Amino acid sequence: MTPPDPDLLSINTATLWESCNFRQAVDALRRQKIRGIAPWRDRVAAIGVKEAARIVRDNGLVVTGLCRAGFFPAPDRKGRRAAIDESLRAIDEAATLEAKCLVILAGGLPKESRDLGGAREMVRDGLGEILVHARSCGAPLAVEPLHPMYCADRGCVNTLRQALDLCDELDTSRSGAIGVAIDVYHVWWDPELKSQIERAGEKRLLAFHLCDWLVPTTDLLYDRGMMGDGVIDIPLIRSWLETVGYHGMQEVEIFSKNNWWKRAPDEVLGMCRVRHQTVC
Ligand code: ZN
Repeated sequence: MTPPDPDLLSINTATLWESCNFRQAVDALRRQKIRGIAPWRDRVAAIGVKEAARIVRDNGLVVTGLCRAGFFPAPDRKGRRAAIDESLRAIDEAATLEAKCLVILAGGLPKESRDLGGAREMVRDGLGEILVHARSCGAPLAVEPLHPMYCADRGCVNTLRQALDLCDELDTSRSGAIGVAIDVYHVWWDPELKSQIERAGEKRLLAFHLCDWLVPTTDLLYDRGMMGDGVIDIPLIRSWLETVGYHGMQEVEIFSKNNWWKRAPDEVLGMCRVRHQTVC
Protein backbone atom coordinates (compact mmCIF):
# COMPACT_ATOMS: atom_id res chain seq x y z
CA MET A 1 0.00 0.00 0.00
CA THR A 2 1.45 3.36 -0.97
CA PRO A 3 1.29 6.07 1.68
CA PRO A 4 -1.63 8.48 1.47
CA ASP A 5 -1.21 11.86 -0.21
CA PRO A 6 0.19 14.10 2.56
CA ASP A 7 -2.15 16.87 1.40
CA LEU A 8 -5.11 14.71 2.43
CA LEU A 9 -4.30 14.92 6.12
CA SER A 10 -6.91 16.67 8.22
CA ILE A 11 -7.00 17.25 11.96
CA ASN A 12 -10.08 17.04 14.11
CA THR A 13 -9.57 19.77 16.69
CA ALA A 14 -10.45 17.29 19.45
CA THR A 15 -6.91 16.02 18.90
CA LEU A 16 -5.65 19.36 20.29
CA TRP A 17 -8.38 19.56 22.86
CA GLU A 18 -6.70 21.07 25.87
CA SER A 19 -4.04 23.13 24.16
CA CYS A 20 -5.83 25.14 21.46
CA ASN A 21 -8.80 27.34 20.77
CA PHE A 22 -9.93 27.65 17.14
CA ARG A 23 -7.43 30.32 16.15
CA GLN A 24 -4.54 28.56 17.85
CA ALA A 25 -5.46 25.29 16.14
CA VAL A 26 -5.45 26.99 12.74
CA ASP A 27 -2.07 28.60 13.49
CA ALA A 28 -0.63 25.22 14.45
CA LEU A 29 -2.00 23.62 11.29
CA ARG A 30 -0.42 26.37 9.20
CA ARG A 31 2.96 25.86 10.87
CA GLN A 32 2.75 22.14 10.12
CA LYS A 33 1.41 22.70 6.57
CA ILE A 34 -1.73 20.69 7.21
CA ARG A 35 -4.67 21.61 4.97
CA GLY A 36 -7.68 19.99 6.60
CA ILE A 37 -9.55 20.87 9.79
CA ALA A 38 -12.61 19.44 11.51
CA PRO A 39 -13.68 21.87 14.23
CA TRP A 40 -16.10 21.36 17.09
CA ARG A 41 -19.07 23.63 17.36
CA ASP A 42 -18.19 25.02 20.78
CA ARG A 43 -14.78 26.18 19.53
CA VAL A 44 -16.42 27.75 16.49
CA ALA A 45 -19.09 29.41 18.63
CA ALA A 46 -16.41 30.94 20.84
CA ILE A 47 -15.27 33.20 17.98
CA GLY A 48 -18.46 33.20 15.90
CA VAL A 49 -19.13 31.09 12.84
CA LYS A 50 -18.63 33.92 10.33
CA GLU A 51 -15.22 34.75 11.75
CA ALA A 52 -14.29 31.07 11.79
CA ALA A 53 -15.33 30.78 8.14
CA ARG A 54 -13.18 33.80 7.29
CA ILE A 55 -10.16 32.29 9.04
CA VAL A 56 -10.73 29.00 7.21
CA ARG A 57 -10.89 30.81 3.86
CA ASP A 58 -7.89 33.06 4.53
CA ASN A 59 -5.79 30.02 5.39
CA GLY A 60 -6.94 27.94 2.43
CA LEU A 61 -8.22 25.19 4.72
CA VAL A 62 -10.70 22.48 3.88
CA VAL A 63 -13.30 21.74 6.58
CA THR A 64 -13.61 17.96 6.46
CA GLY A 65 -16.47 17.93 8.94
CA LEU A 66 -18.20 19.98 11.60
CA CYS A 67 -18.61 18.19 14.93
CA ARG A 68 -21.38 17.62 15.76
CA ALA A 69 -25.18 17.33 16.02
CA GLY A 70 -27.87 14.73 16.51
CA PHE A 71 -28.49 13.25 19.97
CA PHE A 72 -32.11 12.79 18.98
CA PRO A 73 -33.63 10.49 21.65
CA ALA A 74 -35.26 12.37 24.53
CA PRO A 75 -37.87 11.51 27.16
CA ASP A 76 -40.52 13.85 25.77
CA ARG A 77 -41.62 15.75 22.69
CA LYS A 78 -40.06 19.00 23.90
CA GLY A 79 -36.66 17.35 24.28
CA ARG A 80 -36.86 15.75 20.86
CA ARG A 81 -37.83 19.09 19.30
CA ALA A 82 -34.90 20.82 20.99
CA ALA A 83 -32.47 18.28 19.52
CA ILE A 84 -33.90 18.79 16.06
CA ASP A 85 -33.72 22.59 16.35
CA GLU A 86 -30.13 22.40 17.55
CA SER A 87 -29.26 20.15 14.61
CA LEU A 88 -30.89 22.59 12.17
CA ARG A 89 -28.66 25.35 13.57
CA ALA A 90 -25.64 23.07 13.17
CA ILE A 91 -26.54 22.54 9.51
CA ASP A 92 -26.49 26.32 8.99
CA GLU A 93 -23.07 26.50 10.63
CA ALA A 94 -21.74 23.67 8.48
CA ALA A 95 -22.99 25.47 5.39
CA THR A 96 -21.32 28.74 6.45
CA LEU A 97 -18.05 26.88 6.99
CA GLU A 98 -18.51 25.04 3.68
CA ALA A 99 -17.90 21.84 5.60
CA LYS A 100 -17.79 18.60 3.65
CA CYS A 101 -20.30 17.21 6.14
CA LEU A 102 -21.97 17.69 9.49
CA VAL A 103 -21.10 14.76 11.75
CA ILE A 104 -24.19 13.21 13.32
CA LEU A 105 -24.08 11.20 16.52
CA ALA A 106 -27.33 9.38 17.13
CA GLY A 107 -27.55 9.83 20.88
CA GLY A 108 -28.21 7.07 23.40
CA LEU A 109 -31.15 6.01 25.52
CA PRO A 110 -33.36 8.71 27.01
CA LYS A 111 -32.93 9.07 30.77
CA GLU A 112 -34.22 6.07 32.72
CA SER A 113 -35.37 4.32 29.55
CA ARG A 114 -34.69 0.75 28.51
CA ASP A 115 -36.45 1.10 25.17
CA LEU A 116 -33.56 0.77 22.73
CA GLY A 117 -35.86 0.12 19.79
CA GLY A 118 -37.78 3.29 20.60
CA ALA A 119 -34.56 5.30 20.84
CA ARG A 120 -33.51 4.10 17.42
CA GLU A 121 -36.87 5.15 15.99
CA MET A 122 -36.32 8.62 17.44
CA VAL A 123 -32.98 8.76 15.65
CA ARG A 124 -34.58 7.85 12.33
CA ASP A 125 -37.38 10.39 12.84
CA GLY A 126 -34.94 13.11 13.88
CA LEU A 127 -32.77 12.56 10.83
CA GLY A 128 -35.90 12.64 8.68
CA GLU A 129 -36.80 16.04 10.15
CA ILE A 130 -33.46 17.66 9.32
CA LEU A 131 -32.63 16.01 6.02
CA VAL A 132 -34.50 18.47 3.80
CA HIS A 133 -32.68 21.41 5.37
CA ALA A 134 -29.32 19.66 4.98
CA ARG A 135 -30.06 19.05 1.33
CA SER A 136 -31.15 22.62 0.63
CA CYS A 137 -28.08 24.03 2.43
CA GLY A 138 -25.65 21.69 0.69
CA ALA A 139 -24.40 20.45 4.05
CA PRO A 140 -24.54 16.63 3.97
CA LEU A 141 -25.24 14.68 7.14
CA ALA A 142 -22.58 12.10 8.01
CA VAL A 143 -24.03 9.53 10.39
CA GLU A 144 -21.15 8.15 12.44
CA PRO A 145 -21.76 4.66 13.80
CA LEU A 146 -20.29 4.45 17.30
CA HIS A 147 -18.68 1.47 18.99
CA PRO A 148 -21.39 -0.48 20.89
CA MET A 149 -19.81 0.48 24.24
CA TYR A 150 -21.36 3.94 23.68
CA CYS A 151 -24.84 2.63 22.89
CA ALA A 152 -26.46 3.74 26.15
CA ASP A 153 -25.09 7.25 26.45
CA ARG A 154 -23.82 8.53 23.09
CA GLY A 155 -24.94 6.64 20.07
CA CYS A 156 -27.39 3.82 19.47
CA VAL A 157 -26.34 3.51 15.83
CA ASN A 158 -23.51 1.05 16.26
CA THR A 159 -22.64 -0.59 12.98
CA LEU A 160 -22.05 0.62 9.47
CA ARG A 161 -24.89 -1.63 8.29
CA GLN A 162 -27.28 0.10 10.68
CA ALA A 163 -26.14 3.57 9.55
CA LEU A 164 -26.51 2.64 5.89
CA ASP A 165 -29.96 1.18 6.52
CA LEU A 166 -30.98 4.59 7.85
CA CYS A 167 -29.47 6.36 4.84
CA ASP A 168 -31.28 4.03 2.43
CA GLU A 169 -34.58 4.39 4.23
CA LEU A 170 -34.46 8.20 4.34
CA ASP A 171 -32.78 8.88 1.02
CA THR A 172 -33.84 6.31 -1.52
CA SER A 173 -32.51 8.37 -4.43
CA ARG A 174 -28.98 8.47 -2.94
CA SER A 175 -29.03 12.25 -3.30
CA GLY A 176 -25.78 12.80 -1.44
CA ALA A 177 -27.52 14.67 1.38
CA ILE A 178 -26.89 11.86 3.87
CA GLY A 179 -24.10 9.34 4.24
CA VAL A 180 -21.71 8.00 6.82
CA ALA A 181 -18.51 8.90 8.63
CA ILE A 182 -16.19 5.92 9.02
CA ASP A 183 -14.17 6.21 12.21
CA VAL A 184 -11.74 3.31 12.50
CA TYR A 185 -12.02 3.42 16.30
CA HIS A 186 -15.71 2.58 16.15
CA VAL A 187 -15.88 0.06 13.32
CA TRP A 188 -12.53 -1.76 13.05
CA TRP A 189 -13.86 -4.88 14.84
CA ASP A 190 -16.91 -5.33 12.60
CA PRO A 191 -16.79 -8.55 10.51
CA GLU A 192 -19.05 -6.84 7.98
CA LEU A 193 -16.91 -3.74 7.61
CA LYS A 194 -15.53 -4.49 4.14
CA SER A 195 -18.85 -5.58 2.65
CA GLN A 196 -20.67 -2.58 4.14
CA ILE A 197 -18.05 -0.16 2.79
CA GLU A 198 -18.67 -1.72 -0.61
CA ARG A 199 -22.39 -1.28 -0.08
CA ALA A 200 -21.91 2.38 0.89
CA GLY A 201 -20.03 3.23 -2.27
CA GLU A 202 -18.49 6.59 -2.99
CA LYS A 203 -21.76 8.49 -2.66
CA ARG A 204 -22.36 7.56 0.98
CA LEU A 205 -18.77 7.82 2.25
CA LEU A 206 -18.47 11.35 3.56
CA ALA A 207 -15.61 11.20 6.08
CA PHE A 208 -12.80 8.94 7.25
CA HIS A 209 -11.56 9.33 10.84
CA LEU A 210 -8.24 7.96 12.10
CA CYS A 211 -6.74 7.02 15.44
CA ASP A 212 -5.89 3.64 16.95
CA TRP A 213 -7.23 1.12 19.46
CA LEU A 214 -4.83 0.69 22.34
CA VAL A 215 -4.42 -2.59 24.21
CA PRO A 216 -5.19 -2.24 27.01
CA THR A 217 -7.57 0.69 26.73
CA THR A 218 -7.74 2.45 30.08
CA ASP A 219 -10.65 4.84 29.45
CA LEU A 220 -13.62 4.20 27.18
CA LEU A 221 -13.68 7.77 25.92
CA TYR A 222 -10.36 9.45 26.49
CA ASP A 223 -7.74 6.83 25.71
CA ARG A 224 -7.57 6.70 21.94
CA GLY A 225 -4.19 5.94 20.45
CA MET A 226 -2.01 7.62 17.85
CA MET A 227 -2.12 5.73 14.56
CA GLY A 228 0.41 2.92 14.70
CA ASP A 229 0.32 2.53 18.50
CA GLY A 230 -2.60 0.09 18.53
CA VAL A 231 -4.10 -2.86 16.71
CA ILE A 232 -6.13 -1.38 13.84
CA ASP A 233 -4.99 -2.23 10.31
CA ILE A 234 -5.57 1.28 8.99
CA PRO A 235 -4.03 0.77 5.50
CA LEU A 236 -6.36 -2.19 4.94
CA ILE A 237 -9.44 -0.17 5.83
CA ARG A 238 -8.19 2.75 3.73
CA SER A 239 -7.74 0.38 0.79
CA TRP A 240 -11.37 -0.74 1.11
CA LEU A 241 -12.54 2.87 1.01
CA GLU A 242 -10.35 3.78 -1.93
CA THR A 243 -11.44 0.71 -3.89
CA VAL A 244 -15.00 2.00 -3.87
CA GLY A 245 -13.93 5.50 -4.84
CA TYR A 246 -13.37 7.43 -1.61
CA HIS A 247 -10.62 9.94 -2.27
CA GLY A 248 -11.47 12.46 0.41
CA MET A 249 -9.31 13.52 3.32
CA GLN A 250 -8.18 11.43 6.27
CA GLU A 251 -9.03 13.12 9.55
CA VAL A 252 -7.11 12.40 12.73
CA GLU A 253 -9.34 12.38 15.81
CA ILE A 254 -7.58 11.42 19.03
CA PHE A 255 -9.16 11.84 22.45
CA SER A 256 -6.24 11.22 24.78
CA LYS A 257 -6.46 12.78 28.19
CA ASN A 258 -3.31 11.32 29.66
CA ASN A 259 -1.03 11.37 26.67
CA TRP A 260 -1.53 13.46 23.52
CA TRP A 261 -3.62 16.17 25.17
CA LYS A 262 -0.74 16.83 27.50
CA ARG A 263 1.69 17.56 24.69
CA ALA A 264 2.35 20.75 22.71
CA PRO A 265 0.26 21.08 19.53
CA ASP A 266 3.26 21.10 17.21
CA GLU A 267 4.56 17.86 18.69
CA VAL A 268 1.14 16.22 18.27
CA LEU A 269 0.69 17.47 14.71
CA GLY A 270 4.25 16.57 13.75
CA MET A 271 3.61 13.02 14.92
CA CYS A 272 0.28 12.94 13.04
CA ARG A 273 2.14 13.90 9.85
CA VAL A 274 4.76 11.20 10.32
CA ARG A 275 2.29 8.44 11.22
CA HIS A 276 -0.05 9.44 8.41
CA GLN A 277 2.79 8.74 5.99
CA THR A 278 4.13 5.61 7.66
CA VAL A 279 1.26 3.59 9.15
CA CYS A 280 -1.93 4.79 7.46
ZN1 ZN B 1 -15.00 10.19 14.58
